[in-house]
Amino acid sequence: MTKTLISNVNKLYINGNWQEASSQETIAVHNPATGEVIAEVASAKEKDAELAINAAREAFDKGPWRHTSAHERSELLYKLANKIEEHREEFARLETENNGKTLRESLGDIDFTIRTFKYYAGLATALSGETIEADAPLTSKIVREPIGVCGQIIPWNYPLLMAAWKLAPALAAGNVCILKPSELTPLTAIRLFELIDEAGFPPGVVNLLVGYGPEAGQPLVESPLVDKIGFTGGTVTGKAILQNAVGNLKKVSLELGGKSPNIVFADADFETAVDYAMFAIYNNTGQVCSAGSRLLVEKSIYPRFIEELVKRTEKIRVGNGFDEASQIGPLISQKQMEKVLNYIKIGVEDGAEIAVGGTRLTDQGREKGFFVEPTIFVNVDPKSRIAQEEIFGPVLCVIPFENEEEALELANGTSYGLAAGIFTTDGAKAERVAKGIRAGVTWINTYEQNLIEGPWGGYKQSGLGRELGTYGLEEYTEVKQIINNLKVEPTGWFD
Ligand code: NAD
Repeated sequence: MTKTLISNVNKLYINGNWQEASSQETIAVHNPATGEVIAEVASAKEKDAELAINAAREAFDKGPWRHTSAHERSELLYKLANKIEEHREEFARLETENNGKTLRESLGDIDFTIRTFKYYAGLATALSGETIEADAPLTSKIVREPIGVCGQIIPWNYPLLMAAWKLAPALAAGNVCILKPSELTPLTAIRLFELIDEAGFPPGVVNLLVGYGPEAGQPLVESPLVDKIGFTGGTVTGKAILQNAVGNLKKVSLELGGKSPNIVFADADFETAVDYAMFAIYNNTGQVCSAGSRLLVEKSIYPRFIEELVKRTEKIRVGNGFDEASQIGPLISQKQMEKVLNYIKIGVEDGAEIAVGGTRLTDQGREKGFFVEPTIFVNVDPKSRIAQEEIFGPVLCVIPFENEEEALELANGTSYGLAAGIFTTDGAKAERVAKGIRAGVTWINTYEQNLIEGPWGGYKQSGLGRELGTYGLEEYTEVKQIINNLKVEPTGWFD
């Protein structure tokens, strides 16, 4: 049991205290590679959410946080980053145990988490405004202020990293936070809050609610005392959140799903394109919002490309993330596995053809885990469900195209617009296609490389707003203009 690692595993963190959920109910947390229950965590309900909201409200309205200097906030965030770094291996093991991803993937996530906290620790002191002197003797000073109480609701695919993407910019800008991790993967967030406690953030500034979405998350979304919701998760949930947040017109930012195209032109470096096509869909077992799940390949190289992809896919080692031989782990849950297998069935029913994979893996110690074979579909109708809907698993649809125009039409032909990949050695074509694609992130001759310094977010139904970089920090600020008249005298208007 994970209990030995996390002393507060079954508690919530509210107003600087570890406490049990008011209902005393718990949620069983599983290891997806073995199906075993590894922890029982608290199940927060509306009453607990209210406690957290009141604590955060008090901390923002009356506490010292809003008036701390950016330097002080920066110091605390650095302190936290350093503490996570000291526990890097422990966090990675915990993530693999709870999420199933390979240890190598978990270590990558933890490093990105540390970098996120450090980056925003630095950026805290760089947040500045501007002055306009166009209409002397009036001066206009434009300042950025924290928004206030932020409810932050995150998914299970990058549990600790998503917590960092939310908390770091919000705290750097002087907000107070209530984090609601996924009920499936709360363990690294709970451990993070033990370090937040040690680092010495003032009471009420950072709060943790562990629980189910409708019970622990929705009260944050509906509360008139919450000023902003930062959400990452599915598009259906995102739409419900937008509707439920309308009461007090709180600010909402949404990082949602995708069905991202990865376009390979015939003039691409073949080896590089095949290698990245694999990484784009199988990394994190395909449970990535920006997964390159629609591979568009120029017709002249299509047969050779498929042949190579199938050959390499057959060799992928799927297994427990703790086994060094494993290249990808299980899906997160029984439900997710069933969803993926059902999409595979739908694909076949809709006339697509499985080139490789397609079934659950239950041999070699994988009996109780949620393992699915890496799967490639060919002869896919671009309008069919498997080519339009987010599957969120290791399932790739490959679609041929004739020319640049058709590639763009196919690439833009879904309701999503999160990311896209372009493989070509023609620089001008790459730029043209990148500009033609309606997506928030486009990669040329690479895929799934993410810069903390740049913006991350979606066009169309992939989201609202941006995370990361200075864009992510600004999403956690309100803009205020202070106009000052330097020539103090009456206007004489009514004389
Ligand atoms: P989900 O929408 O089911 O859940 C996300 C979070 O919302 C969880 O914490 C859940 O408990 C909570 N929630 C559920 N119902 C709620 C409600 N009514 N009110 C408030 N909160 C509620 O998503 P998931 O299955 O955990 O994650 C997978 C999805 O996340 C995929 O669609 C993926 O594309 C998306 N995602 C997007 C990004 C991005 O950056 N765009 C990153 C990671 C994941």
